[in-house]
Amino acid sequence: MTVPDTVRAVVQTGPRQVELRTFRRPRTGPDDGLLRIEACGICGSDVEQYRGHLGGDRLPMIPGHEPLGIVEEVGERAAQRWGVQPGDRVALEILVPCRSCDLCLTGRYQACPNRGGTYGYSPVTKEPSLWGGFSELVYLHPNAILHRVRGDIPAEIAVMFNPLGAGVRWTCHLGGAGLGDTVLVLGCGQRGLASVIAARTVGAGMIIVTGLTRDRRKLELARELGADHTIDVEREDTVARVREITGGAMADVVLELTPMATQPVLDALQAVRHGGRVVLAGLKGRREVPLVTDVIINRAVTVVGAYGVDARAYGEAIRIIESGRFPLEKLHTHTFELADTALAIETLAGEVPGEEAVHVAIRPDRSAAGRA
Ligand SMILES: [Zn+2]
Ligand SMILES: [Zn+2]
Repeated sequence: MTVPDTVRAVVQTGPRQVELRTFRRPRTGPDDGLLRIEACGICGSDVEQYRGHLGGDRLPMIPGHEPLGIVEEVGERAAQRWGVQPGDRVALEILVPCRSCDLCLTGRYQACPNRGGTYGYSPVTKEPSLWGGFSELVYLHPNAILHRVRGDIPAEIAVMFNPLGAGVRWTCHLGGAGLGDTVLVLGCGQRGLASVIAARTVGAGMIIVTGLTRDRRKLELARELGADHTIDVEREDTVARVREITGGAMADVVLELTPMATQPVLDALQAVRHGGRVVLAGLKGRREVPLVTDVIINRAVTVVGAYGVDARAYGEAIRIIESGRFPLEKLHTHTFELADTALAIETLAGEVPGEEAVHVAIRPDRSAAGRA
């Protein structure tokens, strides 16, 4: 059998400018490898990157930072280190840390200053170019972080390790949600819904989710996944409703996941109970929030900034996916082939009339496009 010497990948060259290009298949050695991409998830960061608000200084690059694939080639030492063989399915983490600095050694590898690369954000000028998931093959750097995923799960579901990993880390590890807790999730995108799943998994007593009027379908989905109450913030006052639902006890944990809007940050601090925790994960595009900090002191609130996901959370998210306990297929709304990457991102962004997307994936191994 002859191995094709070329690799098809999507390259972003400017804001809203993406094109299919062909690259030479990289040669690997004993310490690295190649991943054949089955699916790559899309999130809000991809939308920002596509629009030119993120990573514009590193163009041209191959986007796609949520890759899932089959190990195609792996060097002898790499196979031993990662515990994988050709044919194994793995989820790939976005960061390639040095694994040696103080931050890496204390588990804060997301802040590693000596990174070997960043999947979905390193430019194609960095050898061997294949750093993004919107590609048939991705280069596995010697310091890449891989997680085994069972092979019999549909790729569109298995690739949810990324939003689910965020749900697990933000809700459970940073928010500290546990048995019997009341968890308030502000925002019902894929990460909000993933947080409902995480809260349900750890035995939260009550889960409340907010959304806009146009999010009606997503709020329905939240209830199907285990939310007890949903709030339409355009018709109801979030804090008043939480007070009513909890009989004045308010929420033990509040997750603020809404993009750009600043009012939910203030709502989070009013809806949390005395001594509770507020996790902030919704970026506001550097907008200022008119915040009276006294409320944090008077309510003895712990406010936590959620930066990304770590290996522990990815591992736990993959176990949730493998358990088959949640109807994750209901979250997945769209699948696209490589050539339709622009349409895929625009669909998630809500720019395509009539399409209501929750989870969208690119399948570089597919030639036919369309709805999932
Ligand atoms: Zn993402
Ligand atoms: Zn490091």
